[in-house]
Parts: sequence; structure tokens; C-alpha cells
Amino acid sequence: MLGANVWRRVLGVDRATVIEAVDVDEEDDVVVAHVRPRRHTKRRCGMCGQRAPGYDRGEGRRRWRALDLGTVRCFLESDSPRVNCSTHGPTVAQVPWARHGAGHTREFDDEVAWLATHTPKSAVGELMRIAWRSVGSIVARVVADGRAAHDPFDGLVRIGIDEISYKRRHRYLTIVVCHDTGRLVWAAVGRDKKTLNGFFHLLGEDRCQKIRLVSADAAEWIADVVASRCENATLCIDSFHVVQWATDALDEVRREVWNEARRLGMREHAKELKGCRFALWRNPEDLTARQEARLSAIARVNSRLYRAYLLKEQLRIAIRTKGVLALVMLEDWLSWAARSRIPAFVELGRKIRRNLPGIEAAMLNRLSNALVESTNTKLRVLHRMAFGFKDPEHLIALALLDRGGYCPPLPGRAR
Ligand SMILES: [Zn+2]
Repeated sequence: MLGANVWRRVLGVDRATVIEAVDVDEEDDVVVAHVRPRRHTKRRCGMCGQRAPGYDRGEGRRRWRALDLGTVRCFLESDSPRVNCSTHGPTVAQVPWARHGAGHTREFDDEVAWLATHTPKSAVGELMRIAWRSVGSIVARVVADGRAAHDPFDGLVRIGIDEISYKRRHRYLTIVVCHDTGRLVWAAVGRDKKTLNGFFHLLGEDRCQKIRLVSADAAEWIADVVASRCENATLCIDSFHVVQWATDALDEVRREVWNEARRLGMREHAKELKGCRFALWRNPEDLTARQEARLSAIARVNSRLYRAYLLKEQLRIAIRTKGVLALVMLEDWLSWAARSRIPAFVELGRKIRRNLPGIEAAMLNRLSNALVESTNTKLRVLHRMAFGFKDPEHLIALALLDRGGYCPPLPGRAR
């Protein structure tokens, strides 16, 4: 048999684990390593790590899935006694090779977490031979561990608050990003004052006072909570949201024009308008040749829709400009919108006017649009990926793993 040192390396456990024997379970066709914690690491509460007196034998012998050895599945097997923690009561004792409550070793968890952010969903399950819903609980454990190791709320000064929909747009998450690190800091189910207050409660009085800038869309519930919790913060309106309002207004105009064309029996024209949707949404520099052709067709045949398109583009450019020049451009835009005689844009102009201080604050503070936009986009991708997780907390964990900087390195590699 190989020496204990070799086995320790192969199984990826440290000196806190004693390897008693390794054999093959012919029936299950797996390798089983019989292990125990070294004496000095014994009898600690699995939840808090405090020393605690023994309680009972728990479930007796149990197995933890470890990384495969070559092509063979491998398990660590050990007693799993319970201790009587003064805080947590009777709890399964801590083991050095696995996280509390896990059916897999630390290294197995880490590898699954790494794969979940680097490979397609189907590859993770196939390669690791686990069900997708187990990936949800593994990711949640890895992230909880990472967040316990260092404070995710340290040094927050400029934050962004946003809401994203999940579950076919009926449910929402509130998310908080840090503009300085570019990371997702926090997320929770819900979009209301209570949810957001939960975040500021975790942050605590002192750190709330250190927040200088909060970006968000124009939602009142966010503004109210920020005003009451962060006295020293300026509230900005993310340009990402302003551009989105303009895109929505443009879409409204397109739909009106389309309905009109149908009503008047202009079938060809209606078809053309329906097909131009993506050309209207896209930034002109990203248009394909075909979309460009569609757009010039619109310019020829429907001046109202084309003016709406130009209004959207002009607003996007003004906002992207940033600084004082942007403020001048925005002022010009507002008078153009007011004169446009396109109801959706007249209304948008009023909305922007109402929210002008917040929009100007974002421009003057040179807040990047990219962070909120990319977080928003990425979370939508992750949401599709998280389909099949039972718990929305697992979706949040996956988001934090990917956007919050909690993805562990592959086992055995330095970070
Ligand atoms: Zn405890």
C-alpha cells in the first residue's frame, strides 16, 4: 500500500486528517479512504468551530464524496459524532476535510464552484456526476465560507442599487454593487423598503455614514431608504436606466406606428416596422449592414419613428459624454423633446426633468454605466443557468460567486 503521505496528497487532505486505510468497495465500485480528524482538531462544533463536549455518536459512519481518483469515484469515510455546543446545542462535530452539512469534501465543493462559473451547466453535472440542484447547495456553502472569511462590506464608499426580475418577471432581487471594486456586494429577494433596509442594517450605522454616493434608477423606495440611512450620500441616477427609459419610449412609438399602419391596411409597411425593432434598439456603431438599410428605409417612409430614433440616440450620446458639456447637451435635448410632438418623448422629457438632479449628479461624478449594465446582463444569464435550483438563495449565491469575487481557485492551484 502507498504511504500515508502519498495518500494525503492524492486525496487532498492536510495533516489534520489521519488516513487509517484505503480500500475498494467492490459493490459500489468506489475507492473508500477511512479517515479521522487528528486528536487536536477533534470535538469542535461544526457550525462555529468552538470546542465542545461530546454528545453522542450521531449517525455513526458516513461518507463524503471526494474528487475522483483517475476515473474512479472516491469517498472519505469516518465516524460523525455530535458535540454539545454551548451556542448551537447538539451539532455534528467539525471535520477538517469538509464544510459543515456537506456531503462532499472541500476540494470537491471548490471544483464544482469553479466549474459552475467557467463551464456550461450540462458539463458540470456530467463531469462531476452530480445533480444540478446539488450544485446550488454547493455554491451556497462555498460563498458563505468566503463571506465569513473576509467582510464583504469593508470600505464601501460608492455603491449602486438595482433590481432585477427573475422567475418570468414576477419576482425580483435587489442587488448592491460597489463602483470601486466592480463587484456585486449583496443581493436579496424582494424589491421594497424592507428588503433594502435589510442591507443597511447589515452594513451598520458607522459604515452607512461612510457611503458617499449611491446610484440607482429613479425608484422612490430606493430614494427614501437611502435618504434616511445614508446622510452623507448623494443619490445619482444611473445613465444605464435613463437610456433604458428612452429605449422604452422608442418602442412605444414603434408600436403605435405599427398599429396605425395595420389599421390603414399597409401590410408591407407594417411588416417592415415589425422587423426593424432590433435596428432601432442597437447603437448605430453596432448595426449590421442589413439593419442600417432598415433604418434608412424608416428615415424615408416614417419620419415620426425616425425622429423618435434620433431622440433616443441623441440622449444616449449626451449621457455618454459626461461632464459639463453633457449638461449643456442634455438641456438642448430636453427642449427638443418638449417640442417633438411625440407623446412618449414629451413624457420622457418630463420624467428626465423631474429627475434632473440625480441624472446630473451621475454625469458630474463620472459614474461608469458599464458596471450596472454588465451586472444586469450577467445576472440574467446566471438566472437562466440557475433554473432548477430549488432555493432563490442559491441563485443569489451563484451571482455572488461569479460577480462578487468568491470563486475559489481550482483545488491544488495557488490563487
Ligand atoms: Zn457552535
